[in-house]
Amino acid sequence: DPLPTPALRAPAPAISFEFFPPKTETLEAQLWACIRRLEPLAPRFVSITYGAGGSTQERTHATVTRLVRETTLVPAAHLTCVGASRGEVDDVARRYWDAGVRHIVALRGDPPGGTAYAPHPEGYAYAADLVAGLRRVADFEISVAAYPETHTQAPSPQADLDNLKRKLDAGATRAISQVFFETGHFLDFLDRALAAGITAPIIPGIMPVSNFGQAKRISEMAGTHVPAWMGEMFDGLDDDAETRKMVAASIAAEQVRTLQANGIDEFHFYTLNRADLTYAIARILGVKPAR
Ligand code: FAD
Repeated sequence: DPLPTPALRAPAPAISFEFFPPKTETLEAQLWACIRRLEPLAPRFVSITYGAGGSTQERTHATVTRLVRETTLVPAAHLTCVGASRGEVDDVARRYWDAGVRHIVALRGDPPGGTAYAPHPEGYAYAADLVAGLRRVADFEISVAAYPETHTQAPSPQADLDNLKRKLDAGATRAISQVFFETGHFLDFLDRALAAGITAPIIPGIMPVSNFGQAKRISEMAGTHVPAWMGEMFDGLDDDAETRKMVAASIAAEQVRTLQANGIDEFHFYTLNRADLTYAIARILGVKPAR
């Protein structure tokens, strides 16, 4: 059967966007142009990442607080516990609460440089511990990470699902998925999560990809399978940005429409601080600027 036409269905799905904190003034301008373009789509929240090992603590804070001051958007600050004591992490969280931030994306994080993870001696060992700690700091809304293709360090898929359940039981209210390209993997994961007793929403993380090399690098780190058909579609297009963008839009559109046809009504976009593809996919989903 042809996929239903989401743009004619009401209500439109809920959406959210992820941005990363900019390193330079040029990237800052690019981020804010992206934010201004996407703001009228009225996302449920926008999240700002926290660099590996907490390396962007100040830049994340600056971006999140500027969102509070200058936009109508609801920010969610990513926060990791790797390489920090519980007291340090709690202080960062308290600073967010005092600045008016009410939503945290709580993560374990990874040590810089690809070294093996070891908990800080006085730290929160895993994201589930961080969630419990944040609940003690203030009444935050908390989101956590989910891995449709299993986290790379999990002993088994079932152990990883049990971990997700622990994070939700500790006080998180939603999970956001790692990027995936095989839509079936995500739908199977939802079935397994339900069988494991997880009833909180698991929001698919959608990454519209027009730079295939970059997508492959991100996926390798994330443990995400990059299908051969995707490589074929981008093969030979390195010098043809315009066609790559059209291919990217078509791949992401098919992905979100398939998810929507399977009952998914909320989507999180990894924007990579660029608005155009995300804006187009949101339109295809039936999301429009409020008049
Ligand atoms: P956890 O949920 O703690 O799980 C980590 C691993 O440990 C899993 O394999 C789990 O199964 C295992 N585990 C959990 N508890 C135990 C236990 N008690 N004993 C043994 N094993 C256990 N990284 C950043 O640095 N900054 C970001 O802003 C950021 N944002 C992200 C946003 C999303 C939506 C996602 C999906 C990931 C993000 N990451 C970010 C990456 C994330 O930090 C890494 O994937 C990290 O390796 C795991 O974090 P987690 O919160 O999922 O960890």
